[in-house]
Amino acid sequence: MLAAIITCEESGMDELREKVAIITGAASGIGRAGALRFAEEGARLVLADLDAEAGEALAAGLRAAGRAAIFQRTDVAQAAQCEALVAAAVAHYGRLDCAFNNAGISDGPVPPGTADYPLELWDRMIAVNLSGVFYCLRYQLRAMLKTGGGSIVNTASIAGQVGLAGIPGYVAAKHGVVGLTRTVAVEYGARNIRCNAVAPGFIETPMTKSVFELQQFREMAAVTVPAARIGRAAEIADVAVWACSDRASYVNGAVLAADGGYLAR
Ligand code: NAP
Repeated sequence: MLAAIITCEESGMDELREKVAIITGAASGIGRAGALRFAEEGARLVLADLDAEAGEALAAGLRAAGRAAIFQRTDVAQAAQCEALVAAAVAHYGRLDCAFNNAGISDGPVPPGTADYPLELWDRMIAVNLSGVFYCLRYQLRAMLKTGGGSIVNTASIAGQVGLAGIPGYVAAKHGVVGLTRTVAVEYGARNIRCNAVAPGFIETPMTKSVFELQQFREMAAVTVPAARIGRAAEIADVAVWACSDRASYVNGAVLAADGGYLAR
């Protein structure tokens, strides 16, 4: 991991040079890959997650590699903790330029259907996957408005654009993330804040590992995904880096599919 950072530094990649970025869900999977890619591109990081041990270790590793990174344990389902996360970024670095609002949970093992979907699972899914993004946006926007703008990427999903049987809470929350993303883009575009979403397809991470390891699932993915394979977390992180960077300066309110072509069918 750190060798990769040094290699990229030597090759002069600095798309996010000196930008201060918050990444939620940074201790694992797509968020962790995002932390590594944002760091490679020169961003100064505030990493957030429920998993303090893994998050602190990641931040320490990045600092050891000469990168600026702090970790703050944050439950994105708690508005006050999201406010404190943004406050920590501003206190430590003096500003906030970018955010990758990525923390999320899945509802597996999949319940039988909407009629039987557990009420407590619905509440938890909306609290983390939708309200968690709203809370982060609320305080991030306030900070970005004070310093003249910024760029935000929210992690949605293919489940934010089509219905998927058996996971109504996840699907509803991710559709909500898409709607929030577009609304923020419309509201704040004129004030130099861009807000986009990345919509991953089937990506192998600790969240999905147990399901994706099944031969049956791999066979299904090979047929339903035009790329004929499951994706990697780094392939989502690359989209987030690009969308946060100035190279995407006219991209606002977009839902960037990174799904091997799944939604194109
Ligand atoms: P992951 O490996 O489980 O990583 C998610 C991270 O978010 C974990 O470290 C988790 O901590 C943390 N987290 C969970 N609830 C949180 C909360 N309330 N506050 C702060 N952090 C919290 O999963 P992933 O696959 O990388 O997923 C990242 C995002 O991508 C999610 O929004 C997910 O819905 C989305 N996504 C994933 C896929 C896929 O195929 N993997 C596809 C489409 C979209 P704990 O481990 O301690 O819970």
